[in-house]
Amino acid sequence: MAAAPYRGRFAPSPTGPLHFGSLVAAVGSYLDARAHGGEWLLRIEDVDTPRNVTGAADGILATLAAYGFAWDGPVLWQSTRFAAYAAALERLLAAGLAYGCACSRKEIADSGSHPAIDGGLAYPGTCRHGLPTGRTARAWRLRVDDTATGFVDRLQGRILQHLESDVGDFVLRRADGLFAYQLAVAVDDEFQGISDVVRGADLLASTPRQIWLQHCLGYATPRYAHLPVACNAVGEKLSKQTRAAPLRPEAAADQLVQALSFLGQAVPAELARASVAEVWAWAKAGWSFAAIPRQPAIAVVPA
Ligand SMILES: [Zn+2]
Repeated sequence: MAAAPYRGRFAPSPTGPLHFGSLVAAVGSYLDARAHGGEWLLRIEDVDTPRNVTGAADGILATLAAYGFAWDGPVLWQSTRFAAYAAALERLLAAGLAYGCACSRKEIADSGSHPAIDGGLAYPGTCRHGLPTGRTARAWRLRVDDTATGFVDRLQGRILQHLESDVGDFVLRRADGLFAYQLAVAVDDEFQGISDVVRGADLLASTPRQIWLQHCLGYATPRYAHLPVACNAVGEKLSKQTRAAPLRPEAAADQLVQALSFLGQAVPAELARASVAEVWAWAKAGWSFAAIPRQPAIAVVPA
């Protein structure tokens, strides 16, 4: 059987402008796709509509173009995909794999639940065998069990979680009616035929949940590579919350070189004054996946 053609993706959330950490993920996924002769798709993860910032998505597309990224096919917007997410949830409910949950955040906190692997609270399973008398469902959750769910990451090695104790039955549709990130990503990776996910290691803890969902929905599981995450001097991931500086398109060539260096590439000194096109020509010819550092986070001092 022939291997599926390589198809990668970059999937930013329009919660603010791209910063150096986003650039590292974009560069890593783009060059891995091109090195495999594969496609690189773009998805705007605007499923969590209250967090979207007006104009941010257009800014992201303009920034990617200014940095010389060329994506294949039309951009997929999660905000147009609610019917697909609803259909996936219906399938899971019909199969008895998902169920309605009446618990408020406070009730979960008061139930003696322990911290989940991603910093939230592990769901204690209160509504798993039916809603408490007189209560109605406000969210929908996916059943998990405590067998080991895992995968071998191309960079981080073997990752295993016991979903029941590490996160508990997790939310597919939230009390505010929005579909959860985990469901949207699993449905969209399948819809776009993604063979390879290359993204920041901040999403490593989410991956076993996405793989569990893929199994429940009968989807293929992509290969994964979780890149080191760019952190500031005090070890916080660069993000809008930690006030990471927006990318500066006038410095695109310099920042691409910095991203390549961050990813362990042996960038020659003469590339320091190169154009965006010259940086990409070198990067596509000289890209070495094997040179990417294996650790999940690396501090950077932004220029
Ligand atoms: Zn509940």
